[in-house]
Amino acid sequence: MTIDNFNFNGKKAIVRVDFNVPLDENGNITDDTRIRGALPTLKKILADGGSLIIMSHMGKPKGKVKSSLSLSQIKDTVAKYLERPVEFAEDCAKAADKAAALKPGEVLLLENLRFYPEEEGKPVGIDKEDPAYDAAKKEMKERQKEFAKTLAGYADVYVNDAFGTAHRRHASTAVIADYFDADHKMLGYLMEKEVNAVDNILSDIKRPFTAIMGGSKVSTKIGIIENLMDKVDNLILCGGMTYTFAKALGGKIGKSICEDDKLQLALDIIEKAKAKGVNLLLAVDCVAGDDFKNDANTIICSVREIPDGWEGLDIGPETTKLFCDAIKNAKTILWNGPAGVFEFDNFAKGSRAIAEAIVEATENGAFSLVGGGDSVACVNKFGLADKVSYVSTGGGALLEAIEGKVLPGIAAIRG
Ligand code: AMP
Repeated sequence: MTIDNFNFNGKKAIVRVDFNVPLDENGNITDDTRIRGALPTLKKILADGGSLIIMSHMGKPKGKVKSSLSLSQIKDTVAKYLERPVEFAEDCAKAADKAAALKPGEVLLLENLRFYPEEEGKPVGIDKEDPAYDAAKKEMKERQKEFAKTLAGYADVYVNDAFGTAHRRHASTAVIADYFDADHKMLGYLMEKEVNAVDNILSDIKRPFTAIMGGSKVSTKIGIIENLMDKVDNLILCGGMTYTFAKALGGKIGKSICEDDKLQLALDIIEKAKAKGVNLLLAVDCVAGDDFKNDANTIICSVREIPDGWEGLDIGPETTKLFCDAIKNAKTILWNGPAGVFEFDNFAKGSRAIAEAIVEATENGAFSLVGGGDSVACVNKFGLADKVSYVSTGGGALLEAIEGKVLPGIAAIRG
């Protein structure tokens, strides 16, 4: 069932969205991309004559009420975009009356789901090592079911449009689906777009396929790196993980970021790439700084000959050319993680060059998918977000989907 072939007229729809937007210290939204991302789904339901119960999490309140993470702060923005008043339920588990009172075209926004520990379903205040942990976990899973059932009771139809949390089996993202028939639960438009983008990357790959993995650490990306080896022609590894590889290969890396316990893993990745015939591209030179700040002094040097007291903070010119050539020739591109500390303008050149090469390849017919918080921030910073094929809203969810894992939020609906 898709929302396109469902008529919401006279129905109450409970929609899980990702309104986990960044706020400043005064509670003002600094980037409302995620709210705008869910609008097509919300507007379709209202246009059909349905009523909306919108639910989301915000931040990590860890099962406790935290006023700085209250969704009441975004109510007016949601009302502005939906061009109608939005009712607010301060307690998402006690909103039955407000939900029952909704008339067609009316909107109810529930408070942050994660004010309840049941949403994530993890026991709070008890250590995993504690002998009572397993019993506490079991009990919490039961409470999670009850919580999901309560939420389900508010509506006739369940729609999941929150890709960013689709890799979590939470009450509102997956468990709730158990309380709806197959023809009364569906994925929203944003979720469908995300799923299609991943399908584009995983099936019917146009070659060459170049993946660019950056960011700070090898350890958080190892699953996806290993998985990509079975799919890509060129695998570019950049960002902070460069220096773990450089050290593993016997280089001097100064005070660059490095995971000393992952040196063998780095060598294994190099061997695996060889065995699988993947063209693994690692940085050869870097822009090093004498401090972790934008106006640090800089030198350009080999990634294996970084002087003491200096740290690699961006890729160097030779590397930039090497990487960009592999990107410009590609017909399928995946980018996750910046090439350097792009937050500092003086160390953003490498990431900018990568973004521009992706845009060029896209203009020449490549399919390009950019995902994961920081690379999205990168393309936004350079004003290039609308020049790539697709910018994913998912970080962990996107990587898990590309790793080939079944996302609980999607499985709950598609079976
Ligand atoms: P991740 O969350 O693992 O994707 O990492 C993103 C972060 O990695 C960004 O905040 C970058 O500033 C950081 N990063 C990229 N390259 C480096 C580097 N050479 N040294 C330190 N941090 C880096």
